[in-house]
Amino acid sequence: MNPAPPLHPDSILLHADDPLHDGTSVTPAIPWSATFTAEDAQTFARMASEPMHERYYTRYGNPLHRRVARIVADLEGGATGLVAASGMGAISTVALGLLAQGDRVVAQRNHYMGTTKLLSELLGRFGVTAEFVDQTDTGAFARALERPAKMVMLESPTNPDCSLTDLAAVATLAHAAGATVVVDNTFATPLNQKPLALGADLVVHSATKYLGGHHDLTAGVVVGDEATIERLWSTQIVLGATLSPMDAWLLLRGLRTLSVRVHRINASALAVARALATHPAVEAVSYPGLASHPQHALALRQMSGFGGVMGLRLRAGYDGTARFVAGLRLAQHAVSLGGVESLIVHAAAMWAGTLDESGMRQAGIEPNLVRLSVGLEHPDDLIADLYRGLERLTAG
Ligand SMILES: *Cc1c(COP(=O)(O)O)cnc(C)c1O
Repeated sequence: MNPAPPLHPDSILLHADDPLHDGTSVTPAIPWSATFTAEDAQTFARMASEPMHERYYTRYGNPLHRRVARIVADLEGGATGLVAASGMGAISTVALGLLAQGDRVVAQRNHYMGTTKLLSELLGRFGVTAEFVDQTDTGAFARALERPAKMVMLESPTNPDCSLTDLAAVATLAHAAGATVVVDNTFATPLNQKPLALGADLVVHSATKYLGGHHDLTAGVVVGDEATIERLWSTQIVLGATLSPMDAWLLLRGLRTLSVRVHRINASALAVARALATHPAVEAVSYPGLASHPQHALALRQMSGFGGVMGLRLRAGYDGTARFVAGLRLAQHAVSLGGVESLIVHAAAMWAGTLDESGMRQAGIEPNLVRLSVGLEHPDDLIADLYRGLERLTAG
């Protein structure tokens, strides 16, 4: 008999975890237990010593952890995966699992804020140094990698302004310098971008965003080769960033519909970005799918879709931008992204307690920058809602 053909990503989402199925129910039971019994002394000894055993103690593993990891690993084209309690749980497990005193990391000037803090503050206390370079400038990576580095941390597109890193070019430079390449693929999802195929060694996700997709769980995932993932697991059981069985169940359920959600969101976000780009109250729209994005050619090369997040700069100051963000009917005023509901945030509002408008501009925090995550509402309704908000701005 011929081997079964490989599955399309749509089907991986539904069936990659079939071999891990534990019974006859179509959806899995939630293994609501912190610990699991052993039949005899020999079995117990095996449960206690086998890496990533799924029925020993939930901090060490859980049947649903393995199913989620299998699906995301297959989507990313990696050998195996590890789940964590959050995206930051996954990223800190990677950093603390692979780095040691004296190591040097090359990272981007623009990262998810938690990643920046991990690299610049926390790891600094343990003797790990980090250099942050302009991610849009591959030459800046080349210069930083003239000196030895243990790890290159990448993220593309980035939060909140959707600039890109040339993942293939930087991975080649990093490997020549002997560094491990880690890519945060949260914004793109494995349906729009495959970092391992572009040369990355490890991929991390905040599964709180698109993979879960419903703003109802926090989770993280790391995908890579067997030996590295096992090493990261041995770090993770010490750090304790364990994904709860309920959140693993919700994540498994969210993953089933990832493809329909992401493809619809790709199309809606492109329509919204095009419509906003022509509005006179909008100074600029940063969305990799627009021909006006300065790295659109790179986006076409390394992405197959452009996701649901865009950065908007309004022709308004801090106060006008704040009113716009808070006054919409459909896009809800909340942090996070990647779920079925559209969400919008005023990036500078996070600094409002510490900086005034001119201080923000000096610090490179644009007071008029808004991050929009397009969800599953009809794009015509979203555009109408955003236009009403923009018209209130110009009327007032
Ligand atoms: C949200 C996010 C994280 C952190 O994930 P949590 O699940 O909130 O811990 C990391 N990277 C990116 C790009 C994110 O958007």
